[in-house]
Amino acid sequence: MNRELYGKLIFELSHKGRKGYKLPNTGVKASMEGVPAELLRSTSPALPEVDELTVVRHYTNMSNNNFGVDTGFYPLGSCTMKYNPKINEEIATDPRLASLHPDQPTYTTQGALELYHTLELYLSEIGGMAEFTLNPYAGAHGELTGLMVIRAYHEQNGDSKRTKVIVPDSAHGTNPASAAVAGLTIVEVKSRPDGTVDVDDLRPLLDDTVAAVMMTNPNTLGIFERNIPEIASLVHDAGALLYYDGANLNPMVGVARPGDMGFDVMHINLHKTFSTPHGGGGPGAGPVGVRKGLEHLLPNPRVVMNEDGTYGIEYSDESLGQISGTLGNFAVCARALSYILSLGRNGLKWVGPLATLNANYIKESLKDKYLLPIDGVCKHEFVFDGLKDKSTGVTTLNVAKRLLDFGFHAPTIYFPLLFHESLMIEPTETESLETIDEFISVMSRIADESIADPDMVKDAPHNTPISHPDDTEAALHPVVSYFELSAQ
Ligand SMILES: *Cc1c(COP(=O)(O)O)cnc(C)c1O
Repeated sequence: MNRELYGKLIFELSHKGRKGYKLPNTGVKASMEGVPAELLRSTSPALPEVDELTVVRHYTNMSNNNFGVDTGFYPLGSCTMKYNPKINEEIATDPRLASLHPDQPTYTTQGALELYHTLELYLSEIGGMAEFTLNPYAGAHGELTGLMVIRAYHEQNGDSKRTKVIVPDSAHGTNPASAAVAGLTIVEVKSRPDGTVDVDDLRPLLDDTVAAVMMTNPNTLGIFERNIPEIASLVHDAGALLYYDGANLNPMVGVARPGDMGFDVMHINLHKTFSTPHGGGGPGAGPVGVRKGLEHLLPNPRVVMNEDGTYGIEYSDESLGQISGTLGNFAVCARALSYILSLGRNGLKWVGPLATLNANYIKESLKDKYLLPIDGVCKHEFVFDGLKDKSTGVTTLNVAKRLLDFGFHAPTIYFPLLFHESLMIEPTETESLETIDEFISVMSRIADESIADPDMVKDAPHNTPISHPDDTEAALHPVVSYFELSAQ
């Protein structure tokens, strides 16, 4: 790509008088008559003036600078960047679904409501829960909604002194954040050296001020929490509820159900496990499921099946209220149902085992060169604590950047916070053996390079459009608009 020509902003390509459109002459005269003066602008908007070919090249080249699951391997731990089958897009963008208005009368939206209701039933089956709402817009929004259900439950029981939420130190940052937004206080429970929650540390924390314990299983280290039955009975004996962060549901689908393990409330990240292209802030959906006895608290509105088999939308006074505009991110739900139906019951059963197999294969193939702080079988992801040879000064950040030179997206780095040099790899089930073998060989090569030529690895990446932006400056003072850039 020629950066002089195409590496610019569309505004910089503008030439006065150029245009890329031709409108028919309608004979209608533009008039501002009747528009209040305070609504009229004094100068024309600063729109770029460009011809059609320049526009096409500009956006095509820009899209080629983007990295996604459709361009290469994306082993971003915790994010489940699996392949998103194109049939999902076809379904979600079908005008019969995409052009609906949320306020249309329900007799005109029966198909969409059936889709919603069917997905709710499938998620209840997959999660082992009594009922689901699809209304929350993301995982974190699901956590907030789930915690609001738990609060409403305790308040209904006249138990309003329960204001604490216990969260493991390995939890995703959204867990304590959601608890804080729900007006609850966070108490941290420690992990044991094997990465699982320390039951002995948990026991004394459980008293009549605890509203809930939030758990992620497998946890953010990719380790299966084996003590859930014991934890569930401790939590329930203390009168609290057990919350399942289901963002890591991928290895469990069709294998084990949170409801059967004793969880009371859970959310699922549809954009992760049930395949919606995500990253860079969305889109997503974080449906929330509850066990029997909590259904009435789920947020408004609810999709219900009437006695005559038609579908309706209901608002209930018992509900905790409304947490979204209407019925959630409908297109994400459409993709999830398409994905579930195209895999079917038997196909879904392979998702977890294959994701688990792929992760373990990579871990075992690389653990001679990368430091594996927690050995043993993992689920869908695992964490290295940087390179094994610490004498070279090559960091996890260097390894991540060197990977870009080989056309791979970097794994998640410096999360979880339990280790100094965390490098968290999640291959997902959708990658072929050839891709995974190539990744292993590149990771292995980088480990060798870091000994033979550490400076070369530290200077990476060598062939990306931008190589070493100032991360801190970019985070603290992001320049996100052309006008800010040109003002500098
Ligand atoms: C991704 C993730 C979340 C948050 O989900 P969002 O949709 O990004 O809000 C919560 N918990 C875990 C374990 C996750 O991996």
